[in-house]
Amino acid sequence: MLSGEMNFQDTIRIAGVKTFPIRTSRGNSPKMALGIMPTRPALLIKIEDNSGCYGWGEIWANFPTRANTHKANIVEDVIETNLLGFSFSDPREVQEALRNSLAIFFLHIGQSQVFEHILAGIDMALWDLTLRHKGVSFTDFMGLPSSWAQSYASSINAEDLGRLIPLHAGMGHTYFKLKIGFVEHGNAHIVENASKLAPDGSSIMVDSNQSWTLEQAKVALRDIEEYEPYFAEEALRADAPLSDWEELAKATIIPLAAGENIYGIEDFLTMTQAGLKVLQPDVAKWGGVSGALDLAQTVSEDVLIWPHFMGTAVGQVAALSISAAVGKSSTCEVDVNDNPLRTELCGDVIAIEGGQVELPSDPGLVHPPTIRMLTTFADQI
Ligand SMILES: [Mg+2]
Repeated sequence: MLSGEMNFQDTIRIAGVKTFPIRTSRGNSPKMALGIMPTRPALLIKIEDNSGCYGWGEIWANFPTRANTHKANIVEDVIETNLLGFSFSDPREVQEALRNSLAIFFLHIGQSQVFEHILAGIDMALWDLTLRHKGVSFTDFMGLPSSWAQSYASSINAEDLGRLIPLHAGMGHTYFKLKIGFVEHGNAHIVENASKLAPDGSSIMVDSNQSWTLEQAKVALRDIEEYEPYFAEEALRADAPLSDWEELAKATIIPLAAGENIYGIEDFLTMTQAGLKVLQPDVAKWGGVSGALDLAQTVSEDVLIWPHFMGTAVGQVAALSISAAVGKSSTCEVDVNDNPLRTELCGDVIAIEGGQVELPSDPGLVHPPTIRMLTTFADQI
């Protein structure tokens, strides 16, 4: 599934770790079945080596309101001393070493998944550092045929369909994902409206954010089958019994998708055996770039990898890079809602043309945030 080889050679010694909790209350937020996001918190991590080279990563921190400072404190209190002075060639070595030394600690404090989010952001930062140190872009390092990644329009609120679907169709997007699962308006009604607005040849997807029981999911999906959604995301809880997933997969013709709340290759593979057809690893929540690429090498050809992402331009470019590496079968989520952390933090780097976003041509994985914007968005809470 992957076209390139990952040929890490240089030995890099970690000399500095710093977190940047940021936030914006500008823009508008997606409305999810599990709640709204009153402001958008985010957490960046910068890792430096002993030559002064650096890498940026993003640790998932959309909620709750102070998820970013919570995880920044954990990095400072627990992780940092384990990173300083550590030498590696392949970022996977760091993830493995941290797991070996700290997984039981995080199990004990009941924050194993918080640990995964932090490991994901660290892996992203180490890919950025390693490639910048080597002087190559991700596209060149992986030997990709193109520096453009396919994207889809995500998290379109029901009241914004008439504005955002035509706008994104104009940018070349052909896949549109809707948030559904709300009590106040019928799911089928939203999907019907979106289907009318979407250009011929394009597809609708739906995301109900784990809000349905098996019986609710069966009914809701049956009601929208006529619109032929490309996939239904998190139609059940990620931790629902496998028998429920199997039953739902058999009951609907709509391909089932999930991944933002699945941790580890084994769990992803188990879910594909239960009938999941579209895997959505989130580069800032589990595994980082390494985990997603390793997953892509492991799954069978009939399973799609469409990276999940909702955050800043830093993680967004990493997620797009995964799609580009996986190839033509992969398309990456891009939130359509106004969010300056995506559109201003690193400059105008998520410009969508022909349904695609261009990856950085400079050495590294991501576009570094500008100092001015880091100051502008520095968290005051
Ligand atoms: Mg989702």
